[in-house]
Amino acid sequence: MSAAALSPEVLAKYEPVIGLEVHVQLLTASKAFCGCANHFGSAPNSNVCPVCLALPGALPVLNAKAVEFATLAALAINCQVRERSIFARKNYFYPDLPKGYQISQFDKPLAEHGWIDVPTADGTTKRIGITRLHMEEDAGKSIHDGFVDSANHTSLDLNRCGTPLAEIVSEPDIRTPDEAFEYLVRLKEILLYCGVSDCNMEEGSLRCDANVSVRPKGQEKFGTKAEVKNVNSFRFVRAALEYEIERQIEVIESGGRVTQESRLWNAAEGRTYSMRSKEQAHDYRYFPEPDLPPLLISPEFLAETRKKLPELPETRRARMIAEYELTSRDAFALTATREFADRFEAAAKTAKNPHRVANLLLSELGGRLKALGLEQEQSPVSMAGIVLAADLLDEGKISSKQLKQLFDLCFEKNEDFAAVYEREKPEQITDSSAIEALIDQVIEANPKQVEQYRAGKKTVAGFFVGQVMKASKGQANPALLNELVTKKLEG
Ligand SMILES: [Zn+2]
Repeated sequence: MSAAALSPEVLAKYEPVIGLEVHVQLLTASKAFCGCANHFGSAPNSNVCPVCLALPGALPVLNAKAVEFATLAALAINCQVRERSIFARKNYFYPDLPKGYQISQFDKPLAEHGWIDVPTADGTTKRIGITRLHMEEDAGKSIHDGFVDSANHTSLDLNRCGTPLAEIVSEPDIRTPDEAFEYLVRLKEILLYCGVSDCNMEEGSLRCDANVSVRPKGQEKFGTKAEVKNVNSFRFVRAALEYEIERQIEVIESGGRVTQESRLWNAAEGRTYSMRSKEQAHDYRYFPEPDLPPLLISPEFLAETRKKLPELPETRRARMIAEYELTSRDAFALTATREFADRFEAAAKTAKNPHRVANLLLSELGGRLKALGLEQEQSPVSMAGIVLAADLLDEGKISSKQLKQLFDLCFEKNEDFAAVYEREKPEQITDSSAIEALIDQVIEANPKQVEQYRAGKKTVAGFFVGQVMKASKGQANPALLNELVTKKLEG
């Protein structure tokens, strides 16, 4: 991975210090300061107007929905929202930035002092501080290939100019590439639950820059940091950090100094390249935006926005673990998206045994979907189907073996559970004497196990239940079978 492989002993002498800057596109219908559509995939330069093109005399008007979404995100990551924040101009020249500046926020951002908790490898959680969340607008996009004259020209698409963004800056609290990965996964999950962004990394709705430095363990002072820019997947962020940490340690170990710079991740080569020396804040000549008044957040607006906060993933998992007797792993699976968790809970509430609904959903259904490479939305069995199956199992109207057969049929015929069950109505043996006859056969064939049971090893009963169920071709009524096996063995 790195140019020279460093020994684990050398790596262990250093501690990485990582901070992440995440840009999230807010899911508003229109742009941050004009009425143009905020839409990915439109024809180039079709969603533009005098404001976002910076034609002379055009003035920005702040989008209230963007403020609401940014505030909602800030509250979800436990930030304190300022009553009064200030928009500022961040000046720089770039062809895809017709104004010559971005409207951003500088010394008085919308929100500060937040945190999120991320799970760690040892099963505990670690709190990562959030320095700030501020609002800003996006720039346009330079397109360097795909046109006939691309060899000689760069094309510009200004549709993205003025797209509302929230930039979320973490404290340098992250110590490993894995922690960085977890932080990003949890942050994205929170933003998706809040519905403030689609967080689609491929379309650029969520972008991440990582600041990373290393220092000898025990040293208080931070090392010189490099910024790894625009890495377009969380896995690549982790890989880029792993590479960058080793590179910096190597520089220091060979007597050199790490330079403060921006570096670009090259996914194909699995390494970072120096891009340019890192800008300092003063390079941008920030000053308050004269065309926009200070942004005032009233206590009423804040209270109203707080009411719109959904139950957030971590809280929801904790509640669901208690409510449905789930493992932590199952709770993560069921809360993968807010929509999936909502559908599960709505269904589970109607079932006799919600815990069983969770089990069937994740094991019986989830296992089959995974084996076939299908998504939950492509499942032939609906949530209602799962509830029906769980209830039938619970009432002893079908055995777990029959349930498996019915599920197999659902997938074979691409039909929901109710339809398959109605048609198949698996036979059940509910006649005690028929079941007793089968039990007698099994008991006779397995004297050793009978002895074990009578010597006190009660778990052997499960063996007899299994054998009789098999002999009945899965058709014995499970509740009755259990009862009769115990009776016979005790007798
Ligand atoms: Zn516009």
